[in-house]
Amino acid sequence: MDPQAGAVKFVDLQAQIRSLQPALSDAMQEVLRRGDFILGEAVTAFEAEWARYCGVKHAVGVDSGLSALELALRAGGIGDGDEVITQANTFIATVGAIMAVGARPVLVDCDEAGQVDVAAVERAMTKRTKAVLPVHLYGKIGDIDGVLKLAGQAGLRVIEDACQAHGAIYAGRRAGNFGWAAAFSFYPAKNLGAFGDGGMLVTNDDDVAEAVRTLRNYGSKVKYEHVAVPLNHRLDTIQAAVLRVKLPHLDGWNARREYLADAYREHLSNGPVGLPASTGEGRHVYHLFVVQAAQRDALRAALTAQGIETGIHYPLPLHAQPVLHGLGYHLGVFPNAERLAAHSLSLPMYPELPLEHVERVAEAITGWGSRRQAA
Ligand SMILES: *Cc1c(COP(=O)(O)O)cnc(C)c1O
Repeated sequence: MDPQAGAVKFVDLQAQIRSLQPALSDAMQEVLRRGDFILGEAVTAFEAEWARYCGVKHAVGVDSGLSALELALRAGGIGDGDEVITQANTFIATVGAIMAVGARPVLVDCDEAGQVDVAAVERAMTKRTKAVLPVHLYGKIGDIDGVLKLAGQAGLRVIEDACQAHGAIYAGRRAGNFGWAAAFSFYPAKNLGAFGDGGMLVTNDDDVAEAVRTLRNYGSKVKYEHVAVPLNHRLDTIQAAVLRVKLPHLDGWNARREYLADAYREHLSNGPVGLPASTGEGRHVYHLFVVQAAQRDALRAALTAQGIETGIHYPLPLHAQPVLHGLGYHLGVFPNAERLAAHSLSLPMYPELPLEHVERVAEAITGWGSRRQAA
């Protein structure tokens, strides 16, 4: 390794911004010129484009992925006294949405790869269960057929947390197509990211779309007449304008992520870390490239010392989060989620990541493994 080489960043948003100028600045200037900052032309246009991209009937722009999840639950009339099942290894937002509507989050273990475990969901169902929120974690869709079958039999809503899975494919259909509704986030570092917060609710159900359009805008369909809980969760026009410039590039960026993932796999095939299962059927969009190492913290420190940034998604499973202690879970109950929290390491991954950086990361990991074996 060249000790003079620069740092290997985990994500570099500037690289993408540079590649899309001046289109990004022009799009933002256009919003300034029009002055339609709230629910303006670019919001309507981007909603139509995102719905078409996902292959769904409706897309409703909101201010975050969390809001998309929350408004989907509200549209389903889910609240006090209801239970909603999700996996213990997701980001806090999934559970935050359930808490926001006053329902009880019911956590279940994930499978060994971090995807939804349908049998665990089935065991957690009670007569109070109203919905299941499977999470397409890291950019991969798990056994959504199994979830849909179970939910169909039990009359439960399925709301996809697709906040890491823009463009992911399962059985020929894109994320967002499977549930009663689905939520996307346009947080800047997501596969499709805004210049701030943003999100989208997608659905094929006319009533859900209508309800969320009302809910995001002070519960009003007609100005100053409020028929639902008055909340403000609108997508900013300027964010929609930015996202419209980026959307045509999403498939290319996802293809580049797959290419980089393949490169990691090739260079690390005999290495000291566990690799994510290869894509197989469908399309994994690698929001994150997550490897497993028993000595994860030592490996991470070794990489940091060589100027390589990494991430941990997520260091605490949800049942160990202080804010969720009231749910009464104890460590030991979700072994897969706990093992993933202890052993997962997310390697640098973004479309503009140079291939040389993948090679440098792989060399550093392999070198660390050999030194450990020799020690
Ligand atoms: C990013 C993310 C969210 C929430 O998105 P925000 O836009 O930050 O509210 C929800 N769930 C998962 C799995 C995410 O990764």
